[in-house]
Amino acid sequence: MAKVAIKVKVIRYEPEKDQKPYWKSYDLEVDPDYTILDILNEIHWNIDGTLAYRRSCRSAICGSCAMKVNGRNVLACETPMHQFKGNKLKIEPLPGFKIIKDLVVDMDDFFDKLQRVKPYLILDKPIPDKEFFQSPEEFEEIVDAINCILCGACTSSCPSLWGNNDYLGPAALLKAYRFIFDSRDDGTDERLDVINDRNGLWRCHTIFNCMEACPKHIKITEYLSKLKVKAMENSI
Ligand code: SF4
Repeated sequence: MAKVAIKVKVIRYEPEKDQKPYWKSYDLEVDPDYTILDILNEIHWNIDGTLAYRRSCRSAICGSCAMKVNGRNVLACETPMHQFKGNKLKIEPLPGFKIIKDLVVDMDDFFDKLQRVKPYLILDKPIPDKEFFQSPEEFEEIVDAINCILCGACTSSCPSLWGNNDYLGPAALLKAYRFIFDSRDDGTDERLDVINDRNGLWRCHTIFNCMEACPKHIKITEYLSKLKVKAMENSI
């Protein structure tokens, strides 16, 4: 297949060395069906080995290669270059997160917030000897939310979080939904104590950026609305 010439601008930043992030341009020729990750690999392996970015599974499962490309949060490994017109790419780290180096951001706060909503089954009842039965209808309630790969694209695209970093953010709240609406779980009150708060559920203003950013097309805002109803019912 004939190669195409592209221009790629990438945010570079080493906090110990640079005063602020800056753009660096790369000109290269690539296969037209390359993904964004293929392009970053091409740069890293053949042009500039100092470029830092995360990658692992290359299958849209590990969630490590989320980044902003031409203004949109995407997973680099599953996003083909031809989705963007003009053979010009601008690649940035996920917004709203501290940059460690170039496209690598600090995810510690993201995972701390996830831990706060207790992302595991909480049980009052004994664990059954065999399978923990769940009907197809009960599973249907949570199956979409289970698909979350914790890439951070939703949380990083949320204006409520940009305005207040104490906000739990959509990914942590979605995880709370995933367990609160799990028919086997008994931890609803504990989790609502954490999320029924001005820096929790109620800071979601239904802006829908998270849903647009989610590479797994999870209906995050819809589930957060169901959580709000649940929180109100429990208060009454
Ligand atoms: S909800 Fe979607 S965008 Fe948010 S962390 Fe999960 S997979 Fe990523």
